[in-house]
Formats: sequence, C-alpha cells, structure tokens
Amino acid sequence: MPILQETPSGLYCEAGDFFVDPWRPVRRAVVTHAHSDHARSGCESYLAARSGAAILQMRLGPHARISFVEYGQSLMIRAARVSLHPAGHMTGSAQVRIEVDGEVCVVSGDYKLQPDPTCTPFEPVRCHTFITESTFGLPLYRWEHPQVVMQEVNAWWLDNQRRGAASLLLGYTVGKAQRLLASVDASIGPIYAHGAVISACRAYRACGVALPEIRSVMDTPTKFDWSQALIVAPPSAMGTTWLRRFGDVSTAMASGWMRVRGIRRRRAVDRGFVLSDHVDWSDLMKAISETGAEHIWVTHGYTQQVVRTLQTRGFSARTVATQFKGEAAGEEAEVSDPAAVDDTNEP
Ligand SMILES: [Zn+2]
Ligand SMILES: [Zn+2]
Repeated sequence: MPILQETPSGLYCEAGDFFVDPWRPVRRAVVTHAHSDHARSGCESYLAARSGAAILQMRLGPHARISFVEYGQSLMIRAARVSLHPAGHMTGSAQVRIEVDGEVCVVSGDYKLQPDPTCTPFEPVRCHTFITESTFGLPLYRWEHPQVVMQEVNAWWLDNQRRGAASLLLGYTVGKAQRLLASVDASIGPIYAHGAVISACRAYRACGVALPEIRSVMDTPTKFDWSQALIVAPPSAMGTTWLRRFGDVSTAMASGWMRVRGIRRRRAVDRGFVLSDHVDWSDLMKAISETGAEHIWVTHGYTQQVVRTLQTRGFSARTVATQFKGEAAGEEAEVSDPAAVDDTNEP
C-alpha cells in the first residue's frame, strides 16, 4: 500500500489520516504553502510551517485552526512520522516528508532551487517516492540567475525615470510581489504598491521578511507626478481604470511565462521579466535526482512530458491528477496555464 492515495479530495495518507493540500474541506490538512490552489479554507485543522504563519493565517482567515511547526521538526500523526522542509517557493513554503514503516514519501508542493531573499532555500530530502509539480516542465523553460533579471528590472526603472514615465511592475500578489520588492534597488526612487500587495506585505513583515518602504497608491493625491516611481501591482490590474492615474506609464510583468513571446504579447505589457518561483527544466531534473527517489509522481503542469522523460531515464514515473486546471481564482491559477503556450511560435 503506498503512503499516499489519490482521492476526490486530494492526496490522502491513511496511516496518518490526513490530506496534503486538499481541494475540499477535510478534518486534517497538511498544507505546503499559502497559495490558494494549495491552502483552501474550510478544513477542521491545518498543519504548516511556522515561518509563513501570518501569510497562511491571512489566506485562511483568523478563525482557521492552524498548528505551526519548525522546518525539520518531526511529529507523529498516528502511524505516520511527518516533518516539513524548505521548498524555496515563497515564505513558509514546505515539502512534506512522510515516513511510514521505514518507507519515505515527499510531497514537494511548489518549489524552486534559485535564491530568493524572502524564503529559506530549498532543501533536498532523500526519499523513495517524490511528488513533484511540473508547471514549467518543458526544456524551453530555463531561467537566468535572479540577480541578472533584477538588474534588468532596475535598468528598466531608471530608463523610465529618464523618459519621465512611471514604472508599473506586475507580479502575483502573494510571493512574487514581495520577492520583487525585496530584490529591487530601492535607492532608485520611491516605491508604491496596490492595496492587495500592501496587505500581503504586512503579513510578510509579520513573518520577519525585510522589505523596503512601500507607499500606498490609494493614499496618494490625485494630481501626483508618478514619473520617478515604481508601482507594484497584481497582474489583474492590467487593463483597468486603476492604471489611468499614472499617466505616461511603462508596464512590465515578472513571471516564468514571460519566457513565451505569445503570452507576453497577449498580456499586452511593454516588458516581460522572466522570473519564476517554480523550477525550470534543468532544476526540475536536478531536484528529482537529488532526492534519490525511485518513484516519481508528477502533477500540476506538463505531466505527460515530464513522466515520459523520467521513464526514459530509468525512473518509475506516473501522473497524479490535479483537480481542475485554472479553477482557483488566486494567483497560481493564472500562473498554471499550460494551454496558453500552444499559441506561440517559440520553440
Ligand atoms: Zn505556489
Ligand atoms: Zn501551485
């Protein structure tokens, strides 16, 4: 009997009688991170990593019953030994290690190997079965070092200042926006943010993440010169009247999808910065091999392609169903849009 089973509510561990990132309200949920396609409200109790406590509480609401544990701290849930390990995806993101009778299974949730000032680096965990996402599981997805990308962002902002245009940078509200804010050169000019980003930043600060001074767009007088400012907002702000106030504005988006020209075009932004909180193809393969796992379960993204590649490399690999794609209204649903790649000419 495998440690985890697929059920209509998501991955279930019978030995511990709990679910990992369940889609439906269950009694006991172990949650990898605070994105809405992983942390859903309505469960009786939750277990998650302490380093992201305030962010998860913001997502699930003040009444959610959440137990927090440190990374690496192990506890018994019935017959299962459970511990959480850094996933490097966003503040508080964790891989769930489950051990039953000497057999070890790791659910990685979303993860990346690249450095990110807002979270603890990904830790490879040895296991027999590794469950991985495959959001960017195609060889065309490869990321530059984030430092290189942030130099591009800084240069874009400076250039806009010289031309007298405001700099509007779009990034997902929880995770990407804070990574951008923590990485950008704050000495270039004043930084402003959309209300949703401001709320998330408050939760991030409560988790001890250092962020520069960020002012609220809403609290700014109507007649205001935005030409020196960087404004960070969710992608949903694009094409709304909220943008009008900035006058002459250069728009940019930071996402792994910006690697694909067709998506960039469809987003109608002036610039695309390829910065992702998920692994690219080579880091995906690297992370998998570092677990030493023989069995790989692939979910969430280009599952077929990744499974096929792993099988040719000698792994026992299979697909694990994701609920339904693009269902959640949150950030990640927008990110996980593999179908969107089909309409491009890029290799
Ligand atoms: Zn995520
Ligand atoms: Zn996700």
